[in-house]
Amino acid sequence: MFLKGCPLQCPWCHNPEFINPAPEIAFYHSRCVGCGECGEVCRDQAISYATPLRIIRNRCTVCGLCVEACPARALEFVGQEMSVEEVLEIIMRDQHFYEVSGGGVTLSGGEPTVQMEFISALLKELKARGVHTAIQTSGYFVWEEFASGPLPLLDLIFMDIKIADPREHRLVTGVENTVIRENLERLIREFPDKEVVVRIPIVPGYTAFAENLYALSSWLEDIGARQVVLLPFHPFGISKAENIGRQVDERLPRKSLCQGSF
Ligand code: SF4
Ligand code: SF4
Repeated sequence: MFLKGCPLQCPWCHNPEFINPAPEIAFYHSRCVGCGECGEVCRDQAISYATPLRIIRNRCTVCGLCVEACPARALEFVGQEMSVEEVLEIIMRDQHFYEVSGGGVTLSGGEPTVQMEFISALLKELKARGVHTAIQTSGYFVWEEFASGPLPLLDLIFMDIKIADPREHRLVTGVENTVIRENLERLIREFPDKEVVVRIPIVPGYTAFAENLYALSSWLEDIGARQVVLLPFHPFGISKAENIGRQVDERLPRKSLCQGSF
């Protein structure tokens, strides 16, 4: 389950459509049949056929009229407001698959802990139904809120660690890493029985420096991290960012880097 909203702004984000907490309209150029319906219905002159991005974002009010009018599903909403009950109803349709496979639900995003109250309520319902629960988080949250809310209801925690140097971390992601480091240290020290997997995205030009990786690995060893995974960079986020009219960092490679590259 992907939740919208993230306090970090990593240029390589593989889910850039989940950074903004509000619903957005995505445009899929390859599906467009050029019928012109979207331009007919838009009241805000926010549709332009002159640009491959189609929507002029600073005019768009996200009213959704073009989405309704498009016969090719080339325009779609990303994100919608839902209650815990509505989400639960969808999740539990796959209950038999969870039982047979031993799988379950992973909260991802965006940054799921931005909606701490919501995920706590959802996790409570999932645990009451015996569903395995996991979270993918940047670790950028208020410890007390996390520890008293979702933490006891989580079976597995994936936490991403990116850049060792606090100033560089702020420069690249928009926030310092002090809180993230403290949260991971507390998680490992105070909850040794929790399964915690630390993940390091290997991004050329940002994290894939020997100096950064040595610093991170030596710190992770010091704090007793037991499982660390290197995430190879892939460029899926680039086209997804373009679909929602988000600026793409030109320094990012447009090719996948497979695990064997490292
Ligand atoms: S969402 Fe509304 S304002 Fe935005 S492009 Fe579509 S019709 Fe126009
Ligand atoms: S309504 Fe859909 S298919 Fe028609 S021009 Fe607009 S985006 Fe393309």
